[in-house]
Amino acid sequence: MRSSLRGIHVALLACLGLGWALGAAAPLAGQEGLPRLTKNPVANVAFSRLLEAARAEPQNWLTYGGGYDNHRHSALQQVNTGNVGQLQPAWTKQFGKPNGFESTPIVVDGVMYVTTGGHTAVWALDARTGKEYWHHQHYVPDDVAACCDKVNRGVAVADGKVFFVTLDAQLLALDAMSGKPMWKVRFGDPREAHTATLAPLVVKDKVIVGISGAEYGIRGFIDAYDMKTGKQAWRFWTIPGPGEPGNETWGGTEAWRTGGGSAWITGAYDSELDMLYWTVGNPGPDYNGEVRPGDNLYTNSVVALDPDDGTRRWHFQWTPHDVWDYDGVNEVILADLPIGGRSTKALIHADKNGFFYALDRTNGKFLYAKEFARQTWAQKVDPATGRPTINPKAIPGSNYTPGCPGPAGAKEWNHMAFSPQTGLAYIPVIENCAFFRTGQAFFGRGLPFWGSFATADAFGPGESHGFLKAVNAATGEEAWKIKSDHPVMSGVLSTAGGLVFWGEAEGTFHATDAKTGKDLWTANVGSGIHAPPITYAIDGQQYVALAAGWGGWVDGFAPELRSAPRGHSLVVYRLGGGAPPATRTAEAGAR
Ligand code: CA
Repeated sequence: MRSSLRGIHVALLACLGLGWALGAAAPLAGQEGLPRLTKNPVANVAFSRLLEAARAEPQNWLTYGGGYDNHRHSALQQVNTGNVGQLQPAWTKQFGKPNGFESTPIVVDGVMYVTTGGHTAVWALDARTGKEYWHHQHYVPDDVAACCDKVNRGVAVADGKVFFVTLDAQLLALDAMSGKPMWKVRFGDPREAHTATLAPLVVKDKVIVGISGAEYGIRGFIDAYDMKTGKQAWRFWTIPGPGEPGNETWGGTEAWRTGGGSAWITGAYDSELDMLYWTVGNPGPDYNGEVRPGDNLYTNSVVALDPDDGTRRWHFQWTPHDVWDYDGVNEVILADLPIGGRSTKALIHADKNGFFYALDRTNGKFLYAKEFARQTWAQKVDPATGRPTINPKAIPGSNYTPGCPGPAGAKEWNHMAFSPQTGLAYIPVIENCAFFRTGQAFFGRGLPFWGSFATADAFGPGESHGFLKAVNAATGEEAWKIKSDHPVMSGVLSTAGGLVFWGEAEGTFHATDAKTGKDLWTANVGSGIHAPPITYAIDGQQYVALAAGWGGWVDGFAPELRSAPRGHSLVVYRLGGGAPPATRTAEAGAR
């Protein structure tokens, strides 16, 4: 008995030891025999170039949102409403992971940088053929708390480096030519359930990241690091401590210590105002509000920060005192819009709570909110302040309480796009409801801290569906919509060719007329779509790229697709399709 116990103990230690070894910096793998990059594609990518990325170099996709304004709109128009029917596969790359593939590829002068899920990895590929230059594999300890799948959303590039976060909350800088690590910092503690999944954002000389883990009672933060050295420049706590403005919204309790407030979606930046906009997620515990009386700032909010020191300039809260995990972390888009008869520096946002918002991004003033999906939690939104009046019947009780949207929201993190040509925002919409229940919340370090739960499949088959909706960004009025049998969980790309590219949960990739909503082209990519498509050009040839692979928190948004096929394929299209001119020459056959 004793010896067998000791055997187990030794085996356990061996496993732990292995875990540590794997958790350490892994050697570059699979590099033998690969083509080499002969110069660093990112060597000349500096802040000045990132600022003008969308306007000056549409052939590249240099930042996560396709520009600091997050429009995800490309000026490329070789592929357009007239010829999109000729779009054919150029190449695909399979990564063989069973996790959601949520990455936005970055493309710099013909080189693509993309991250994959599971154990976080970064790949440098020839964007014309998909051939690998190098990859960097990071191994994540198996016990890392990942509420909603082991995913990663992409890299940032600047200063010769590729920046990415790992699921176990480290930020790494790799040499963009060789993949060799230049520096790394651990910005969260996995034992506290700190995790990281977002694409970093480079602003000036800093790399900005946010933490995940609000489902485990963390206290959230947004961090900035010097891009040359990895030295921390500032931290903004999304949950204010005693003596800090906003702490009074935690009812004088200690609940701020476990108050949540993840910041897992990449922000936006306005260089004229010199303001960084970052969204903050749900409070902890998710479904029990009794232990955290008050509005619980800055959860379910957008904060405008000084990018140099992290000082808060203003904030706006979408859902005060959230008890449905409506979260508020979805992306913000910066656009100058004709609102109320004058050109307005606006910030637009489609929240999980079912409302589409426009704010004045100079000061955070509320402009309007409009429902874009079925919602039952708010009786109205104050037209002057944007503050909702809560429907008391929607507040979770100890019995199951029906509410819409469900806990995945009316829109998940998957990014909408905005076209300055049409003035429309293209929103991936989830239509589903759930039963919410509140219960006691017991905090244990690194353990789930939900305060009971919600069940999303209670309404039966067919209840849960989705749309791609085009909404006039100046008014919130719907222009057109396309129904899908399942929630639409993909990101969206808009192009100057008059197209929007988006995908369905069962794997159909679409190109749709941006003005009319007429579907012009589809392709079956073989697995459900989460990621936003991007577009780029090499030698005058336009490509459209999509990371396809089902996963994420499927139980929350489409439980009917729990067992849908997984995959991790990068699929790339161009007019006429096929590979570029032959890379092999035929030999005459033997007679
Ligand atoms: Ca959440």
